[in-house]
Amino acid sequence: MTAVAVSEPPLVGLTRRPTGAARPTATARRQLPGGPESGADADRLKAMARSANDQLEGRIAHDIIRWAADSFGGTFCVTSSMQDLVLADIAASVAPGVDVVFLDTGYHFAETLGTRNAVVATMDVRVVEARPTQTVAEQDATLGARLHDRNPELCCQLRKVAPLSRMLAGYDAYATGVRRVESSTRALTPVVRFDAANRVIKLAPLASWTDDDVTDYVREHGVLSNPLLEEGYPSIGCIPCTSRVTDGEDVRSGRWAGRSKIECGLHR
Ligand code: SF4
Repeated sequence: MTAVAVSEPPLVGLTRRPTGAARPTATARRQLPGGPESGADADRLKAMARSANDQLEGRIAHDIIRWAADSFGGTFCVTSSMQDLVLADIAASVAPGVDVVFLDTGYHFAETLGTRNAVVATMDVRVVEARPTQTVAEQDATLGARLHDRNPELCCQLRKVAPLSRMLAGYDAYATGVRRVESSTRALTPVVRFDAANRVIKLAPLASWTDDDVTDYVREHGVLSNPLLEEGYPSIGCIPCTSRVTDGEDVRSGRWAGRSKIECGLHR
């Protein structure tokens, strides 16, 4: 098990995978003929996404991830908020050593960072961290303290959306743990689509999973989970924007509680 630093601006990688397909750097991929910034490449990925969605809707999560791993190899990754590691567990079983991207916003609970450390120590994946260009202290100095209270959209853009976008420049496809039952904004989530903002293929292998499906999988497979899930936090994000939820409340009601905001902008 080793830890490596990736010098691309905001990225720090933690890895326990000594070998395997190397993730091409964003710079290297941009230099390839027909790289991800070319219209031809975007058209190819769009067509692939359409066809794959038709074929993979209704299939189990393992099949969806296997298609991505076979199609993209080292330029496929999964993202994780370190809430539960169901998606990463399935990905590791299908594609050992797969990259798991974690957005380190600088505002995480100690339990979330502890879960990340446990993943690094115990799972056959490579955890890669995407970080904002500014620390929280630097952001406070330039934009004022508690931007999350005054302008959460901008805060999420700077600390989540932009870092993920920079990270995805090194990939062709990524999978998220988004599920349709989580909110009305996620109800129509396709299992495979083209992410036009990041010009990559985006997968949602757990799209059709219920809350019970997740609970059952965690129990049956002994999957790592954030301990806050047992302490009244069914949806875990940054400390300033995550509250406890009481029994019977919507599971995402603890995110940006009291505001109209219900998404951070990663899953538009
Ligand atoms: S969830 Fe809150 S603290 Fe985290 S990036 Fe968004 S606004 Fe900022």
